[in-house]
Amino acid sequence: MPITKTDYLEYTYCKKNLWLRKHKPELFVDVELSEFEKKIIEEGNLADQAARNLFKDGQLIEIVGMSAVPVTHSVIERKPSVLFQGAFASDGFFVQADILKYNALLHGWELYEVKATNDVKREIPHHHVNDLAFQKIVIENDGLRIVKAGVIHLNSAYRQHGKVNYDELFIIAELTDEVFAAEAGVQEEMHDLKTYLGMPEEQGCECLYRGRNAQCTTFQYSNPDVPDYSVHDINRIGGSKKVFYDWIDRGIYTLEDIDNPETLTGAKQAQYQAYMQGKPLIDHEGIKEKFDELVFPLQFFDYEGYSSAIPRFDGFGAYEQVPFQYSLHTLHEDGTLEHKEYLVTEPTPQVTLPLIQQMREDFDDEGTVISWYKSYESQRNHKLAELHPEYANFLEALNDRMFDLMELFSKNLYVDAQFKGSASIKNVLPVIVPELTYKALGIQKGDQAVERWEKMIAPDTIGAEKAQIAKDLLEYCKLDTFAMVEIYRFLKAL
Ligand code: SF4
Repeated sequence: MPITKTDYLEYTYCKKNLWLRKHKPELFVDVELSEFEKKIIEEGNLADQAARNLFKDGQLIEIVGMSAVPVTHSVIERKPSVLFQGAFASDGFFVQADILKYNALLHGWELYEVKATNDVKREIPHHHVNDLAFQKIVIENDGLRIVKAGVIHLNSAYRQHGKVNYDELFIIAELTDEVFAAEAGVQEEMHDLKTYLGMPEEQGCECLYRGRNAQCTTFQYSNPDVPDYSVHDINRIGGSKKVFYDWIDRGIYTLEDIDNPETLTGAKQAQYQAYMQGKPLIDHEGIKEKFDELVFPLQFFDYEGYSSAIPRFDGFGAYEQVPFQYSLHTLHEDGTLEHKEYLVTEPTPQVTLPLIQQMREDFDDEGTVISWYKSYESQRNHKLAELHPEYANFLEALNDRMFDLMELFSKNLYVDAQFKGSASIKNVLPVIVPELTYKALGIQKGDQAVERWEKMIAPDTIGAEKAQIAKDLLEYCKLDTFAMVEIYRFLKAL
């Protein structure tokens, strides 16, 4: 198997992970990509195809993989001016380049990599300069001369109006000097990579010194002595290098073994105490003070939003969130609970207008609006106010009376060790209200909701499937706001 550009980039991020992928692929068999990861890949492919509109008369190599190499060579003999997905191999390495354009003045080829990002990235693992340098090395060793190199990325200032204007949607960032300068270093890394893959397995892995969020799925395999709930699960422990590294160096993996807990502060200290005392840490006074701010009727509110690399709706740009659904539970002072909801099923170019019109009907002019991580909802309201100024007063007023229920957890007013330092509703709900679960629903996560909505509005999705997706989306979003109601009730009862 040749070493691909993805392998090389993965090596620069974590060489052990690449080694395991190549030598123990069985470890990755059950690891399914999340809907979010799949969407990133899909968006990358769509951006690549869209960017081809910037070049006239391009020849596309339709085959993928090593068998595309001889096909590419025979197409090049016919002297095309632009080549899409040209495949090259040399010294055990393989690349398939997004765009190559012949430059007659410089007697060589311009190499362009299309990225579905809003700028040029210079950090691992998405280092665009090294990515291009890797391609240049492989292509040149296979016989072509590269005279220029660059990244074609999305223009974050672009807003969609009618048909997509590809010249405005994309920016061509020339990186020739940087790519040429990076070449020697990348060449060295490619040599080291080959040597590393030929070596026997190393014990353990570097993530022993990183917090849980930075670890990949093979951590347990490489570090079998680390328990399920370990010091790695302490809130943002990766940022407290001195104390964390010291524990690891001394073999302290469990919270029970920590012999200097006084070094922990804030959320870390709260989590440690909750864990050690085996029950939640509750700041009754703090919770009461926060709840004293609330005014009835309490309106528990949640948006679901869609985004895409190539904008699909008027007024929105690349990756801008387009609210397509909301759920609203209204709790009155006498304890009665009402539910309202809206889902865009047949989007028009003014996709958000009917949604706002319904919101105007459904919201009470009085009372606190409660959301979870309120900056998401309030940013959407700002955007909608900008797009529909006739509703600006209404939307800004919602923001003025918005309350973030998540803050009771992120500010440590209620800490359960089982949250593992997270204030996400997906971590809090199963601990506080275990009987309320997403597991029985057709849609269980936000990224899945986005993928399903995209499927629902696709022209080839037929009636029955469309109706089922709509039902699943409504149930999912309804549970998000009902979960907030139940969490509020739980805390209030304290
Ligand atoms: S757990 Fe971390 S160091 Fe270990 S293989 Fe995964 S990413 Fe690499």
